[in-house]
Amino acid sequence: MKQNLNRVSVSEQPAVPLLDLKAQYAQVEEEISEALREVCASQHFILGPGVKKLEEAVAEYSQCSDGIGVSSGTDALLVALMALDIGPGHEVITTPYTFFATGGSITRTGARPLFCDIDPVSYNLSPSCVSELISNQCEIRGDQLVNRSTGGIVKAILPVHLYGQMADMDPIMETARQYGLKVVEDAAQAIGSEYPGNRRAGSIGDIGCFSFFPSKNLGAFGDGGMCTTNDPELAERLRVLRVHGGKPKYHHALIGGNFRLDALQAAVLLVKLKYLDEWTTKRQENARYYDTAFQQAGLEGYISTPQAFAGYRHIYNQYVIRVERRDELRAYLTEARIGSEIYYPIPLHMQKCYDHLGYQPEDCPESARAAKETLAIPIYPELNREQQQWVVEMISGFYR
Ligand SMILES: *Cc1c(COP(=O)(O)O)cnc(C)c1O
Repeated sequence: MKQNLNRVSVSEQPAVPLLDLKAQYAQVEEEISEALREVCASQHFILGPGVKKLEEAVAEYSQCSDGIGVSSGTDALLVALMALDIGPGHEVITTPYTFFATGGSITRTGARPLFCDIDPVSYNLSPSCVSELISNQCEIRGDQLVNRSTGGIVKAILPVHLYGQMADMDPIMETARQYGLKVVEDAAQAIGSEYPGNRRAGSIGDIGCFSFFPSKNLGAFGDGGMCTTNDPELAERLRVLRVHGGKPKYHHALIGGNFRLDALQAAVLLVKLKYLDEWTTKRQENARYYDTAFQQAGLEGYISTPQAFAGYRHIYNQYVIRVERRDELRAYLTEARIGSEIYYPIPLHMQKCYDHLGYQPEDCPESARAAKETLAIPIYPELNREQQQWVVEMISGFYR
């Protein structure tokens, strides 16, 4: 393999980072500088009219009546669960194949995550695993769904729209309705992503949670997030919880936290939101290029490219391939100055902090397998064809 690498003469080839935010910044620099200057001139930094404008814009973009700007995607998840009164003695069904915040937020409310396996093709929470888990491990007592082995009350389902493609929401919503469960969508990687019927991420469950972490498709200049909902009462609760549960100020019927979004971040995001669809189209075009190029390279059996399902709008926050000898390939790409990342190497049911929950890898076998076989490769909008060609060549070379 080493010889192979030398033969193609790495030094003459472009370095391909996993993500290059500077390229995007160059496109919007002037507009953003102006927007930031306006905020500085106003000296109004927390919430305020700019945040409200962003909330309205993201809510509309996501087909929701309300947007509630918050401090991060993690806080969006936490405050969403708090707004639904989820806490000690409760359980939330979720996927273990996700960023830690999904499970961590559940635990931080005092509730327990109930991990349920993924579909091996979409990598999203499998609706049939959810139904099976409920039929095999839970029972209805009164009007509540109870986990037989723990005695905990199952309150909600928390699907994640991983990599930018939505989870199969119809059967998840059907199960939720059948058992009176709430649904929180972790849409951190999925702003503008659509489910068949042109239904957008964050608009189907009770609350949608978005992240504006810089590496997300709509990234701030720091941390930021948003909850979306079509339920005005929930929206009001979220707004109150965001400011320590105070309403009116200094009167606390609820205990919330400081989950506020800054005006500076909102100003950046309002500028970038105008370009989001253009950037999404470029990500999709890059994905089509890879799909075709890998197919032509004849690598079936070594690599599987991500599947975009019919009727869905996949926004490709990540382009994740499933491969043989993943770790070796990754080392090889690193040597060739091609960025890649493993999302995620340890599924949540196998994290040390969840030892006490008593899970074994085989409790969620597809999640455990995906954690060993998947690799994200560069897909950002400004990636050029030459770079993509090089990525495909290097990966093909590794397997030949
Ligand atoms: C990024 C991300 C989060 C957390 O968002 P932050 O803004 O970083 O707190 C939660 N869930 C998923 C799936 C994510 O990708």
